[in-house]
Amino acid sequence: MEIVRYHFCMRQAINPPRDSLIRSLFESYIEMYASRDRALLARFSADFSGYTGGGDFLVKDRAAWQDITLHDFAQVPGRIRIEMLDLSLQDLSEDVVLVCAFFHIHLPLADQILSRETARAVLVFRQEAADWKIVHSGISIPYHLVGDDEVYPIKGLLEHNRELEALVEERTRALEDANHKLETLSYCDGLTGIANRRSFDRMLQQEWNRGLRAGTPLALIMMDVDHFKHFNDHYGHQLGDACLQALAKTLATQAVRAGELVARYGGEEFVVLLPNSDEAAALAMSRKIQRDVHALGLQHEGADPAIVTLSLGVASLLPSKRCTAAELLSQADAALYCAKQAGRNCVRASSARPL
Ligand code: GH3
Ligand code: MG
Ligand code: MG
Repeated sequence: MEIVRYHFCMRQAINPPRDSLIRSLFESYIEMYASRDRALLARFSADFSGYTGGGDFLVKDRAAWQDITLHDFAQVPGRIRIEMLDLSLQDLSEDVVLVCAFFHIHLPLADQILSRETARAVLVFRQEAADWKIVHSGISIPYHLVGDDEVYPIKGLLEHNRELEALVEERTRALEDANHKLETLSYCDGLTGIANRRSFDRMLQQEWNRGLRAGTPLALIMMDVDHFKHFNDHYGHQLGDACLQALAKTLATQAVRAGELVARYGGEEFVVLLPNSDEAAALAMSRKIQRDVHALGLQHEGADPAIVTLSLGVASLLPSKRCTAAELLSQADAALYCAKQAGRNCVRASSARPL
């Protein structure tokens, strides 16, 4: 198959003064077009032809061109700005010059969708007596943005904007929900569903600071399941997990006042944080926990008694600037150690600890 190459030869602009004259005529044409200046029609030749923004209408008289162009502009609320990207002039003959331009159209809107599209204009100037008249004008707006009844896609853009805003709002809400769920999850113990160590650490510091400001004591109960290794060895880890879940459920019913928190400290260790509580109140709650765990009657062969029991260590401190919340933690831990030493299944307070 023979490939035919077409060479479209154009003569270069050879007349610099004419070149700049046509350029300025073109610029004022575009300016008048953008500002909807009706005097523009006087620049058209009597045998003018052209097509309008949408490119769908080829017209052969100025009045029709104006009607259609004004209709195209009807949706545009204000002045449009035309930003020239490229402009070339071609002498088609001694008295005919073609101007070809690429430009961006900036509509008076926040959404700059049309600004990112390249529009094209082709104008043909012909010398008539002393004047240069426009014999052809064609402006093409990017077709995919042109609606049925809208060349400058204002309605479409506003609608598009509204849709985008609604979508962004919906996504933001979904993201906030997801973040909230994640945040909740990150403070929850996966096995038992009660607060985790992270949550406890945060609350301990928060309540310590509150106690410091208010001058109220802060108490802590630290618990450890007795002989739990043996429980796992005997019943298996799955039943071990179920046992921890049952214990957590019972513990969770204990903290009822604002600021009180039951948390899984780690492994088979739990803590209860009691704001505005002295040692006596914490001891009373510890004994209640002990009774409730006994009442659960979770079987534990090999232990004495043959049920799951806890050892509990209690401490209460008046927060002061001389020590930190870690002191409360270490006192409760030491009291728990004493309870283990004393034979397990019992409560010990840090104040009763031998020095
Ligand atoms: P003590 O009375 O001195 O506390 O003895 P213990 O056996 O409870 O103490 P130890 O620290 O030796 O054992 C703790 C056991 O708890 C070992 C570990 O396998 C078990 N454990 C820790 N976390 C979990 C868990 O999430 N699920 C199960 N099933 N077991 C756990
Ligand atoms: Mg332990
Ligand atoms: Mg233990």
